[in-house]
Amino acid sequence: MAKPKNAMEIFKLLDKSNCRECGKKTCLAFAGAVFTGQKAIGDCPKLGPEIIERYATEPARHDAVADIRDDFLEKLKNEITQTDLAEAADRLRGRFSGGKLTLKVLGKDFSVDGEGRLFSDIHVNPWITVPFLSHVLYGKGLPASGKWVSFRELKNGQERYPLFQKRCEAAMKNLADLHPGFFDNMVHLFNGKQVEEQFRSDISVVLHPLPTVPVMVCYWMPDDGLASDLRVFFDRTADENLDIGSLFSLGAGLTQMFEKITQRHGLGGAFSY
Ligand code: SF4
Repeated sequence: MAKPKNAMEIFKLLDKSNCRECGKKTCLAFAGAVFTGQKAIGDCPKLGPEIIERYATEPARHDAVADIRDDFLEKLKNEITQTDLAEAADRLRGRFSGGKLTLKVLGKDFSVDGEGRLFSDIHVNPWITVPFLSHVLYGKGLPASGKWVSFRELKNGQERYPLFQKRCEAAMKNLADLHPGFFDNMVHLFNGKQVEEQFRSDISVVLHPLPTVPVMVCYWMPDDGLASDLRVFFDRTADENLDIGSLFSLGAGLTQMFEKITQRHGLGGAFSY
């Protein structure tokens, strides 16, 4: 559990929309109420579980975090019932047919209908469902600019970067170090595309967890006594197309998925999904 030094530290984590869903008129008032103990950090439904876990007054139990996430998921599904999915399909480069909006997630169809029910060829789990629904509801669908930035350069990314570095970049680097087929499999199983090396990396692969939210993974092999390194980049438009909590969830979720697959199939060579 981290104890905030002041209300501003809490405020920086919020999305600053002043949406009032926490029962306070502004995000600033909410931050003050959390700091003085009148509100719990989890009362803001827009914060991801990792922030709630970090700042909860009582260390959040795993099932408490899961409950918060499930409640948030239900809230998003309710909002979907009020949304024009045909308009969302146009906005987000998806398609709308048979009452369902479909977007490509890592190259596979992922759909939602007007009642918030989800359909997919890939395993439907929270790391993708929350970002998917948030994107449908609030994503602007801006086309990729071609300019890559790190997580910390995105709006509200700086504060969350240490945890992102640990849960996504460092964990993925371990997999890449140990697993010779790591990037080949990323390309073949998840419709990744190897691109010309960026930032002088040895390997650069672009994935599309959502059609307008590309993610680039760059890997530097160990060289001349220098340790290997791995960094994950987002398009400059990422924070307009998705909130920072969902971008965190995509990075950490992708990493967890790769970890599970390598555990299941071993680290020695190619694996299948
Ligand atoms: S619910 Fe969260 S985003 Fe909305 S006003 Fe409260 S603190 Fe701000």
